[in-house]
Amino acid sequence: MYKANSLEYQCFLFQKPEGMCDMARGFKLNTVNNVCFLTIPSFEKHRGIAHGFTTRIGGVSPPPFNAMNLGFSRGDDTENVKKNYEIAGDALGMDLSDMVAFRQVHENNIYIATKKDKGIGFSENRSEYDGIITAEENLPIATFHADCVPVFLFDPVRRVVGVVHAGWRGTVKRVVVNAIDKMTSDFGCSPADILAGIGPCIRDCCYEVGNEVIEKARGLTEIDISDCVSVKNNKYHIDIAEINRKLLIHFGLLPENITLCNQCTCCNDEIFWSHRKTNGIRGCMAAIIMLY
Ligand SMILES: [Zn+2]
Repeated sequence: MYKANSLEYQCFLFQKPEGMCDMARGFKLNTVNNVCFLTIPSFEKHRGIAHGFTTRIGGVSPPPFNAMNLGFSRGDDTENVKKNYEIAGDALGMDLSDMVAFRQVHENNIYIATKKDKGIGFSENRSEYDGIITAEENLPIATFHADCVPVFLFDPVRRVVGVVHAGWRGTVKRVVVNAIDKMTSDFGCSPADILAGIGPCIRDCCYEVGNEVIEKARGLTEIDISDCVSVKNNKYHIDIAEINRKLLIHFGLLPENITLCNQCTCCNDEIFWSHRKTNGIRGCMAAIIMLY
């Protein structure tokens, strides 16, 4: 058998058949230089785009940040995080020292990144945005995650990419819709051309929430969320990945152009960072995308 916590064991867990991963519908697991990351098969059919969703696997950080932590503000040693960026960049095929990223505040503001923003992901005084769009080449844009929904966007016709951070607050504030709006208004994208990938996040199996979350989600009256809400042991559970998928479809994306990863970060905490599972003592994963 595999050694516990070995890369092989993690990948075995990830790919075990019983409901864990439907590779046909989901993201693809890649291993490059011992770094595990996920990609979206529909994006990979196109040239000139690099992207990936990192996992815990492949970095140098010691416990409790082991091993691939891409968050500078979690308490991990800065040198380890810098090294992790180098390792992740090599695996993903991007120079992440150019990365554009912001402080995420569970709002719905979208930033349009240009060359002048190169590297601001590493500056101390970053602005606050939960989504980024760009049409620039060689400009990696990123959002950070540990249970909140990552949404990758790519219009292969207009050559525009985006990443969005959507926890329950961002989801009910329609952050993903704002990203689509900006792609159409500022870049002339047609929603029917846009490919989307909804990455690993906490799913309804583990996401117990209070009544106020359900009430706010019911404010999304343009979609039917009844099958995204369940009750277990008298507590509400919600599926915010599926709600984001429904929003994307309602606002013009084609269902066949949306890839929903069916991995729950909280169920698979050996592979993914989960805020809930770790009580907040954890690292960060990144959703990164770049045109080239
Ligand atoms: Zn779960």
